[in-house]
Amino acid sequence: MSAKKYDVAIIGAGPAGMTAAIYSARAGKSVLVIEKKSPGGQIVNTLEVDNYPATPGISGVKYAMTLQKQAQDFDAVFQFDEIKSIDEPKKEGDYFVIHGKNDEYEALSIILSTGLENRKIGLENEDKLVGHGISFCAACDGAFFKGKDVAVYGGGNTALEDASYLATICKSVTIIHRRDRFRGEQALVDALKKYDNVNYIMESTIVELKGDKLIESVVVKDKNTGETKEVKINGLFLAIGQIPSGADFANLVKVDERGYYEVDESCASKLVAGVFVAGDGRSKKIRQLTTAVADGSVAGSSAAAYIDRLNGREYV
Ligand code: NAP
Repeated sequence: MSAKKYDVAIIGAGPAGMTAAIYSARAGKSVLVIEKKSPGGQIVNTLEVDNYPATPGISGVKYAMTLQKQAQDFDAVFQFDEIKSIDEPKKEGDYFVIHGKNDEYEALSIILSTGLENRKIGLENEDKLVGHGISFCAACDGAFFKGKDVAVYGGGNTALEDASYLATICKSVTIIHRRDRFRGEQALVDALKKYDNVNYIMESTIVELKGDKLIESVVVKDKNTGETKEVKINGLFLAIGQIPSGADFANLVKVDERGYYEVDESCASKLVAGVFVAGDGRSKKIRQLTTAVADGSVAGSSAAAYIDRLNGREYV
């Protein structure tokens, strides 16, 4: 059993969670941040963050490390663990008990900033080939495919950014997308046009992954004609969006039909007092770094206000 009890426990150290830590800690609360991987969340997969105000071109890794140091400078404690479940207190004001793989923790309030996980296509062979030619992160794994032929699957900002980066190091990049237009920003679509080693297979889906030990090709089906063709590749980068990893804590927060957490304007759960949600796992329209940190500031402040109310003090 963990010796120390905290005012606020934050599950997930992405930009939303770490921003929440800064806001709760600066309000004088003891803060524990629990993360199952390394801090930073999805932003560490971005080579250059170009749309975050006032820090053009900052690398995702540098952004995450700076944010973590900022939270630690305000005495937020970081802990590596994977949280399996959280028990709500029998009465308001008692401690939540947080069950991790490695330890147990207690806190008066909880901020869930668990983010999203990568969507898979759902094809046979897929799990076997992840890490063997199939990757979810061009910034992390792109260098393995220097001078080779790769494909990127998806039409959002991630796919467009991945393709632009890969075009600078790979022999060829084939973007495969299920529609005739991209979901991602026009600026990214335009940026990609300057590379002459990028090919487009539009209105098509991947219906088969071939390869035994390593991926060797994908079979692509044209949505309009139904025709299939095989495209030889050495690597496949999946960028077909994310799915919420929210249902684990459905005892604490209402989950909508798509699996996202539903909270009120102060990021508070409508089910259990003292529980807050920040970041991409929250039900909302725009998922950006800016909206993640905005959530973090609201949830961190709301959790601090909740602790003050428990202590009979008003939070200003
Ligand atoms: P996304 O915006 O959800 O795009 C996912 C893409 O995958 C879409 O083009 C979608 O097609 C396609 N797709 C979804 N399910 C599929 C399936 N089962 N089979 C085939 N294709 C499928 O995901 P994302 O690009 O990872 O971005 C996630 C969030 O992060 C977004 O809010 C995005 O704006 C943000 N982001 C921002 C930046 C930036 O601002 N620089 C960079 C990266 C990510 P349809 O278009 O047909 O739906």
